[in-house]
Amino acid sequence: MIKTNKTMMQYFEWYLPDDATLWKKVTNNAQYLDSIGITSVWLPPAYKGQGGIHDTGYGVYDLYDLGEFDQKGSIPTKYGTKEEYLNAIKTLKGNNIQVFADIVLNHKMGADGTEEVLAIEDNPYNRNNDITPPTPILAWTKYTFPGRNDKYSSFHWNWTHFHGAGWDERQKKAGVYKFYGKHWDNEVDKENGNFDYLMGEDIDLNNVDVVTELTNWGKWYLETTNVDGFRLDAVKHIRFSFYKDWIKEMKELSGKQLYSFAEYWSNDIHSLVTYLRQTKETISLFDVPLHYNFFNASNSGGNYDMRHIFDNTLVQSYPDSAVTFVDNHDTQPGQSLFSWVQDWFKPIAYSLILLRKDGYPCVFYGDYYGIPHDAISPKKDLLDILIKVRKYLAYGNQNDYFDHPNVVGFTREGDTNHADSGLAVLISDGPGGNKIMNVGKRLAGSILYDCTGNVKEPVYVDQDGNGIFYVNGGSVSVWIKSKDIS
Ligand code: CA
Repeated sequence: MIKTNKTMMQYFEWYLPDDATLWKKVTNNAQYLDSIGITSVWLPPAYKGQGGIHDTGYGVYDLYDLGEFDQKGSIPTKYGTKEEYLNAIKTLKGNNIQVFADIVLNHKMGADGTEEVLAIEDNPYNRNNDITPPTPILAWTKYTFPGRNDKYSSFHWNWTHFHGAGWDERQKKAGVYKFYGKHWDNEVDKENGNFDYLMGEDIDLNNVDVVTELTNWGKWYLETTNVDGFRLDAVKHIRFSFYKDWIKEMKELSGKQLYSFAEYWSNDIHSLVTYLRQTKETISLFDVPLHYNFFNASNSGGNYDMRHIFDNTLVQSYPDSAVTFVDNHDTQPGQSLFSWVQDWFKPIAYSLILLRKDGYPCVFYGDYYGIPHDAISPKKDLLDILIKVRKYLAYGNQNDYFDHPNVVGFTREGDTNHADSGLAVLISDGPGGNKIMNVGKRLAGSILYDCTGNVKEPVYVDQDGNGIFYVNGGSVSVWIKSKDIS
C-alpha cells in the first residue's frame, strides 16, 4: 500500500460563535478536507460544560451529555447536538478522515450542589506549603445531573471523588483548597511546587470508584461515537500513569489502535521526555518547544538565528512522538497561553511542519479560517497549497541546509510512488537571498516553480540535481515540478 502523509486539523478556535453549528460545518466540509489532504481532525470537547452553549467544553460538567439533555440552559453544546456530533464523525470517517476526541478528565465544573468539607488552603505558588489548618469550607462537589436522570450512568460525584477545589462558597473566596486527608499526586509537573490542581474541582484519579466510572465512561464513549483516538487535555496536571493505564484499557476494550496524543504544556524538553518515558511512549505529545521557537522567531524582527529553529524540540529528539503545530485555541490572542506566532512568520512555520519528513502536523482552524474576534484573516489559500504539496509531493530523502542565520532551506528528493514528487524549500526571516541546494536524481534536469507565488522566475535544476533557489525577505518559497498543484 502506498503511504500518504498524515495531516491533522484542529477543527475549532476559542471564539467560535455560540450557535451550535460546528458539527454541521465540519460535516459539510468533510469531502473538501479529504480532497486537500487532511487525514484526521481533532474535534473540541463534545460534552456539556458548566456554561452550557457558551462553554468551549473545557469547563466539563457532565461527560455523558453530548448535547442530549436539557442541562446548563440548553440541549446542544456550543457545537451542536449529540445527533449532529455522531453524524459529523460518521461523515468524516466516510471521507477517509480519522476523528480524535478531546478528553478532559482533570477537573469538573458547575456542580449541582455544595458540601461542607474540611480543607487546607495551599499557597497557590507553592502547593507544598499549607497556609491554613484544616478548616470547614463549602465546596461545589455534588454532581447529580438531574437533567440526565441517571441515563447511561447512575454515578453521582461527591467530595470524596476530588482532591480539592478552587472556591469556598461560605467565604466566597477563591483559593487552592486541598481536602483534608487527601494529597496532591506526586507524579505531576513540578511548576508551583506541585501542579496537580489546575481549576474547578480537581478529580482524584487515585479513587477506585472514580477510575472505574471513567473506564465505564470511556467504553461508553467509544461505543457511542466510534472515534479513532484521543487528544488528552492538561496531562501535566494528571498522575502520569493514569492515562497510560486508561488508554491501554480502552485499546483492549475496543480492539482498536486508538492514536493518542496529549497536551503537556511545557517549553522544557526534559519534562516532555519524562512524560513520554513514564507513559512508555504510548502517548504522543504536542511539540510545545517548537511552537515557542516559532513564536520567538516571529517576534525577533528578522534577527532569529534560523539555524537553531529546531533546537530543543520534540520533533528533533522524539520525531515519532511529536505532534507539531504552529498555534492553537490556548495560544491565540486573549487566551491563557497567549503566544501567537506573528502573521508574517505563519507561512514559514507551516512549511517547517508540513513539508519535512518528521512529526505529525496539526493545522489550526484559526489559521485556516481566520479569527473574526481578533480580525485575524484566513490563510486558507496558502494552507490549501502547502497541505496539498504535503499530500502529493513531500516524500523521499531530506537534505538540510540550515547553515545561515537568515536563509535556511531543505529539499525532499521524491519517491517512485508519487508522480513528480520532491521539492525544495527556502526560507528567510531577514533579507532575501539564494542558496544552492540539491534536490536529488529524480528532479535532476527539471524546471521548478515556486507554488507560493512569491518568486515568479523558475529555477533550472542541473543534471546533478543542483539548483540556485531564491527567496524574498521574510518569507518562504516552495519549489515544485508542476506549475499548478490544484
Ligand atoms: Ca489534577
